[in-house]
Amino acid sequence: MSEETIFSKIIRQEIPTPLLYQDDLVTAFRDISPKAPTHILIIPNKLIPTANDVEEEDELTLGRMITVAKKLAREEGISEDGYRLIMNCNSHGGQEVYHIHMHLLGGKRLGPMLS
Ligand code: IMP
Repeated sequence: MSEETIFSKIIRQEIPTPLLYQDDLVTAFRDISPKAPTHILIIPNKLIPTANDVEEEDELTLGRMITVAKKLAREEGISEDGYRLIMNCNSHGGQEVYHIHMHLLGGKRLGPMLS
């Protein structure tokens, strides 16, 4: 079984973190160390450690993460100017928390992504 991370505690609100969205499949909250004026994390409620662990049965959840990102981007007022959705995988991808999450970044013009 995969080890839980701090994100599971946030989902269950054992660590009180203001939630921007939660339903039966996904949860969203602000990144604790924002890299842009809007920096939100959208995560599955189910613990999936990395993108490598995504199964066919998770497709609805992964799709929900994107529709929630779209909704939150609209609420943040960044839809028109645009934003970036990122999911890091393992060490070369820069993943730090092993519970998959989509970063929603926006509110300013973002620099080149690849480095
Ligand atoms: P990663 O590098 O893609 O794994 O991103 C992990 C993100 O989680 C980083 O941007 C961290 O700032 C963020 N993070 C870590 N712990 C917390 C927390 O307790 N609340 C909100 N965001 C967190």
